[in-house]
Amino acid sequence: MKTINDFNFKDKKALIRVDFNVPLDDNFNVTDDTRIQAAKPTIIKILEDGGSCILMSHLGRPKGVQDEFSLRHIVDKVKDVMGAEVNFVSDCIGKEATEAAENLKPGEILLLENLRFHKEEEVGDTEFAKELSKLGDIYVNDAFGTAHRAHASTTIVAQFFPDKKCFGALLAQEIESIDKVMKTGEKPVLAVLGGAKVSSKITIIENILDKVDHLIIGGGMTFTFVKAQGGTVGDSICEDDKLDLALDILKQAKEKNVQVHLPVDVVAADAFDNNANTQIVDVYHIPDGWQGLDAGPKSLKLFHGVVLKSKTILWNGPLGVFEMENFAKGTIELGNSIAEATKNGAFSLVGGGDSVAAVKQFGFEDKVSYVSTGGGAMLESLEGQVLPGIAAILEK
Ligand code: AMP
Repeated sequence: MKTINDFNFKDKKALIRVDFNVPLDDNFNVTDDTRIQAAKPTIIKILEDGGSCILMSHLGRPKGVQDEFSLRHIVDKVKDVMGAEVNFVSDCIGKEATEAAENLKPGEILLLENLRFHKEEEVGDTEFAKELSKLGDIYVNDAFGTAHRAHASTTIVAQFFPDKKCFGALLAQEIESIDKVMKTGEKPVLAVLGGAKVSSKITIIENILDKVDHLIIGGGMTFTFVKAQGGTVGDSICEDDKLDLALDILKQAKEKNVQVHLPVDVVAADAFDNNANTQIVDVYHIPDGWQGLDAGPKSLKLFHGVVLKSKTILWNGPLGVFEMENFAKGTIELGNSIAEATKNGAFSLVGGGDSVAAVKQFGFEDKVSYVSTGGGAMLESLEGQVLPGIAAILEK
């Protein structure tokens, strides 16, 4: 696996796919610069080598050229974060871009306009990718968030850089973190899967059963498993068409020696409302008119024990409806347990969708080993798919 550390960028122009798809407010100020910060190590290494950086990214989902999606709005923020001058060109291909790239000096940064102003980007058009490829000497992919897309700038462009393509520091870190869970992690390996529905996690569960020793299933998924085993779930979220599937997963887990841990008690509410009445009930006996919205205290104690004896931990999906304060405790407590295990030397990866939001909201970001930057890309990796953007760098 080639990374930026395998190249010396002196006098080279690096064409870097970054993910600068950042949120903007009504005045086009960047409201969260996490993704720009995340690309900094790669950009700084190349500049310090004596190279220059040509940055390409998408922003939002424009239909043709739309000023509100212009990357011009983020130029000042990129300057601030990198502590360097940033030139900008109003098209990512064509004369202006080519000239600006040619004139770029070592130590300089050029930001190209939104790739998605050209429909060829998302189609994965080869001619468009070839035009992009003319701008740089070495192709660097540092955008994990779009690595699951076979777009021109994320995948197709790589073919024009045989032997001159590599992963940026961020993408390399993402790949290493996933490998630590899926391939090389110290045992016991634990996956905590929460979230709303079994149907959206089924491929992940099936893939992960071959990799882990323990599986905690929480969140709304719990109730499909509970009902499948003869429990009564009241008004809890439950996928009746997935009951057989749930039983099959439990059977597979047994065959593969994976210990499955479900909540034993839940915080049940008489409405899907933060101010609803609540009671703690046995997960197999939820009364009519009540729904389980968070893991209960006995479950959290049980999960704490499992987390603390694990050496490698993957967390995807909240344990309850964490968006409502009164049902966030399970997710917070699980975060605390994982933080403690990490402090004791375990490797912990949080990734894919709402668990990342929860980790940020409750301040666990610095207390786990790694928080993934890509939602969809992370989920597809956990499903066992080889992402096209990653495959394109690995290919000869
Ligand atoms: P996902 O995107 O599949 O990870 O699902 C995340 C969503 O699952 C969050 O919005 C949670 O509010 C929701 N969720 C977690 N636990 C429950 C539950 N017991 N009942 C209903 N929704 C839940």
